[in-house]
Amino acid sequence: MAEQEKEASFPAKENFSEWYNELLRTAEIMDVRYPVKGLYVWHPFGFSIRKNVYAIIRELLDKDHQETLFPLLIPEHEFMKEAEHIKGFEEEVYWVTHGGTNPLDVKLALRPTSETAIYPMYKLWVRSHADLPLKLYQIVNTFRYETKHTRPLIRLREITSFKEAHTVHATWDDAAAQVDEAIRIYIEFYRQLGIPVLPSKRPDWDKFPGADYTIAVDALMPDGKTLQVGTAHHLGDSFAKTFDITYEDPEGEQILAHQTCYGISERSIASMISIHGDDKGLVLPPQIAPIQVVIIPIIFKDGTEVLEACENVRSTLGSAGIRVKIDDGDNRPGAKYYKWEMKGVPIRIEIGPRDLKNNAAMVVRRDTGNKEQIPLDNIKNEILERFDNIHADLLAKAEDEVQSRIFDCETLDEVREKLPQGIARVHWCGVKECGLKLEEDIGAGILGIPTGQDENVTGKCPVCGADATTRVYVARTY
Ligand code: ZN
Repeated sequence: MAEQEKEASFPAKENFSEWYNELLRTAEIMDVRYPVKGLYVWHPFGFSIRKNVYAIIRELLDKDHQETLFPLLIPEHEFMKEAEHIKGFEEEVYWVTHGGTNPLDVKLALRPTSETAIYPMYKLWVRSHADLPLKLYQIVNTFRYETKHTRPLIRLREITSFKEAHTVHATWDDAAAQVDEAIRIYIEFYRQLGIPVLPSKRPDWDKFPGADYTIAVDALMPDGKTLQVGTAHHLGDSFAKTFDITYEDPEGEQILAHQTCYGISERSIASMISIHGDDKGLVLPPQIAPIQVVIIPIIFKDGTEVLEACENVRSTLGSAGIRVKIDDGDNRPGAKYYKWEMKGVPIRIEIGPRDLKNNAAMVVRRDTGNKEQIPLDNIKNEILERFDNIHADLLAKAEDEVQSRIFDCETLDEVREKLPQGIARVHWCGVKECGLKLEEDIGAGILGIPTGQDENVTGKCPVCGADATTRVYVARTY
């Protein structure tokens, strides 16, 4: 009964923090035993999830961005150029001060983000209006000396998978349109992960250091806290001024450029596994799953016929591009089910002598547990159809969950009461002092003003009682 004991020891998802840590370990996503705080190691299985996730963002960006790669080290004089930017990051920067035993003439920062690495080169690359828009991105590691409690995939000192895009435009409006486009790309990216995200414009005190404004997307985690899983910043011309990024317009005049940057990280994976996972382990959208189908032969005496049928199915599915595996190891079927459920394999196919009599297989969905007997003759199409259904159902379920956990609140008491369950939407007069007081009083954060909310909002600010023209999302955040 070894497998039953193992099942009993896996924590229920309602104990979210414990469940999350155990999931990363048992499903072999991250190993937390690396001997530096805040640095974690990808298991190969976790890394193949990462590959599939980042293939999606690459595909979305490659339509009109180009991928690039800049150095990890940024010289101090470049890093210190933009005053607001430094203020935002100076407590988080790791510095390289020595080459061997010799002190360096110029200290080198490990990038916490790459504006100050990329923009000195943009000064050289952007010459004329014909060079614009310039849209580059890179997927790199970045380092931040986090002083808060670190957590794998969520709060790291080495962010291993930072996708940062940096764009240059002729006008402020062009840059603003690019910020909107970035958010559309992120919403589509998360849709493909089966994750609904909430875009909102961050309040001024929470925007990116040096930016005109920031729009972020948040995901609602199972414990009711939100996780910021993507940001897009309008940088105006402030970095262009600092780094002297200008272009020659058609009249021959030198004009300051306008810029944006936008990023996502492995938090995308944290949100995906947290939102879809269940008491049995990982649940993955088929597009993401490293193994999409596992075939389990059910063998009683002579297994030749069954194994042959399994191999035929494997070959049929494999040649359709499906990532499929036969588990013909010595474990009993129950132990195999447990293992592949933990790994989030979207579909399990069981083939035994009784199925073969009907020229069929038993097909089991990981997300619902639903079992159906499927004719072998049509197995490929049946599986592909189920992939679509699984993705659609995961997304719909997550959307229902988010919608049922956004609460319209009129008073601070109501906000306090609802926050343990999810997100409060509350009126705000727009005055910074009221916003900060609200955050302090209820011990939670203003995410921001939902983008695309209707303009005719009327109500009272719950802090000062003045007329409010906007509503904001308020939540406990990671
Ligand atoms: Zn107010």
